Parts: sequence; structure tokens; C-alpha cells
Amino acid sequence: MSFANDVSRDYTSCPILLLSIVVPVFNEEEMTGLLVDRVKQVFGSIETIRLEVIFVNDGSSDRTLEKLLDLQKTNPWIVIADLSRNFGKEAAMTAGLKLAAGQVVVPMDVDLQDPPELILEMAAKWREGFDVVLARRMSRDTDSFAKKTSASWFYRVHNWLSEVKIPENVGDFRLMDRTVVDALLELPESCRFMKGMFAWVGFRTCHVDYVRPKRVAGTSKFRGWKLWNFALQGITSFSTAPLRIWTYLGVLVAGLALSWGGYILVRTLIEGIDVPGYASLFVTMMFLGGIQLIGIGVLGEYVGRVYLEAKRRPTYVIRNLYKTQDT
Ligand code: UDP
Ligand code: MG
Repeated sequence: MSFANDVSRDYTSCPILLLSIVVPVFNEEEMTGLLVDRVKQVFGSIETIRLEVIFVNDGSSDRTLEKLLDLQKTNPWIVIADLSRNFGKEAAMTAGLKLAAGQVVVPMDVDLQDPPELILEMAAKWREGFDVVLARRMSRDTDSFAKKTSASWFYRVHNWLSEVKIPENVGDFRLMDRTVVDALLELPESCRFMKGMFAWVGFRTCHVDYVRPKRVAGTSKFRGWKLWNFALQGITSFSTAPLRIWTYLGVLVAGLALSWGGYILVRTLIEGIDVPGYASLFVTMMFLGGIQLIGIGVLGEYVGRVYLEAKRRPTYVIRNLYKTQDT
């Protein structure tokens, strides 16, 4: 497939392609060197691709920054953005995307779970005319059971509630054309759920399949409570369905109560007054109380989100930018 207006994409023949790789890092001192080596192995011999790798140090408390600065001495194509504290992966990625100058941009994890070799395959698709090339993992065998099940439930619930569907088995690893990145940066929200935002902007999209390897070193930064909150943020950022459900539930419960009331009225007229059932009264009250609290909780989730957005704070703060050459 090819699209008539994209003739300039053939970097293999004449123009040199500037490729930006964006890597958020948080306490990854063991991984940074390994990633740089792999990237060099893959792109070192390709003359038509000029590379910049933007590491966003997301408030690491280990020696990640020192390691990166060391690597930059011998690899001038490395750009380091040092954030003032840990802002989370989404914010760090946003910082990297903003700094990326490339004609194509690839966000990826530092732990080599996103193999750099795949970028070449993705670039070939981009040359064919696609604006977004997703890396889709063929199986989740390398994930723990808990992560596999929670992920599958998250996608099910999210895609059921939200109009913007997130493709399953696709992470942040993808290749994007400049126009896509510019569109993403136009989105003004400060709480950024990137998976949803990627899907929201759209564009001509295709995918390449790959087997996602295990993390090479270090430990996963997303576990338990953090993952749960991330899922909540995802759903409330892209769907208002949880708010609307309460109206329908309210109508349903009120309808049931009304018909039950009618039934009791008729029965009392026919059979006279009997001794009321305190147990059923108590259970109904508790049940409705519970339902109301859940409703208020959901409301609170959204009000909280509106509050955070209303403050209009920046998504991240850069303490220092280390850049040795112009792009
Ligand atoms: N990361 C980050 N800030 C955070 C948490 C993670 O920049 O607060 C980075 C981390 O260094 C890695 C990427 O996000 O490059 C993905 O993290 P991880 O591999 O721990 O996630 P998983 O693969 O387990 O989902
Ligand atoms: Mg990982």
C-alpha cells in the first residue's frame, strides 16, 4: 500500500532520516548502557538514518543520571532531560516527545522489552505510507499471571465503556510520524494517559508483530496499587460512561421500589396490615446506602480529575537539559 502525498519518505535512496527514540528512565542504572549498546549495534551501520536518543530521567534516586552523562561523552547523539522529581512514565514520555526533533519518533522502554531491531521493520511500514506503526506483542507469556489477567480485564472494561478503543497487546512502543507527534502535543490535558491519547489522535495505523522478551535487568516499576490507579486514570480520562451509569441505575432502583410499593399497597388493602419485616427493610437500606456511596465515589473520581486539570500545572519540570549537538 502507498499514499500519493508521501513520496519524501524514501530515506533509503536520498534524504537522511532523523529518528528520535524517546526513553523514560526511572532507577535504571543497570539498563542504560545495555540499551545504548543495542541501539548502536542496530543503527551504527545505517548511513541513511541519523539518530537521537532522548533519555528522560524521571527523578531516579540511583546513579542513572551519572551513567547517562558518562554515555553521552562517547555518544553525542544522546540527549538527556533530567526531570526535577519522579513525575511518572506518562509525564516523562511527554517530555521526551516534546524534545524529539525527528521526522519519525519512537517511544520505548529502557529494559529491552521493546527490541530496537524492530524499529527497522516499523520504518519500512512507515515508508509504505503509514503514520503510526504499532508493535503488537504476539503473546503475554513473559508477563506474570496477575498482570496478564488484569491487563485483559482493563482492555475489556475500557473498550466497552469508551468510544476511543485501545488496541489490545500494544504498549507504548510504536513508530510515529512527525505529524502524529505534533497532534499529540496539541492535546492540552496535564494528566496524560498516553495509551488513550495515542488512540484518540488516530492517523493511518498498522502493526508489526513481535515476541516481547523478559526485562533484561532491574525490576518492573508497575505493580499492584500503581497499576490499579493507572487503570482508573485510563478509564476516567477517556470515558464518561461511569458517570452516566448512575442515572440508569437510579431509574431502575426507583422503578423497582415503586412497583414493590404498589404491591404492598394492594396486599395491605386485601389482606390488612401485617407485621413489617425489619430484616428486609434493613437489607434494602444498606444496599441502597452502598450504591449511593459508590455513585459518590465515581463522581469524586471525576471531580478530582477536573480539579487537577483546572489547576493548569505543567505536566513535568525539567531541571536540566544535556545536549551536545544540534538536531
Ligand atoms: N518508568 C518511568 N517512570 C516511572 C516508572 C517507570 O520513567 O515512574 C520507565 C522505566 O524506567 C521503563 C519504562 O518506564 O523504561 C517501563 O517501566 P517497566 O519496565 O518497569 O514497566 P513494565 O514493563 O513492567 O510494564
Ligand atoms: Mg518493562
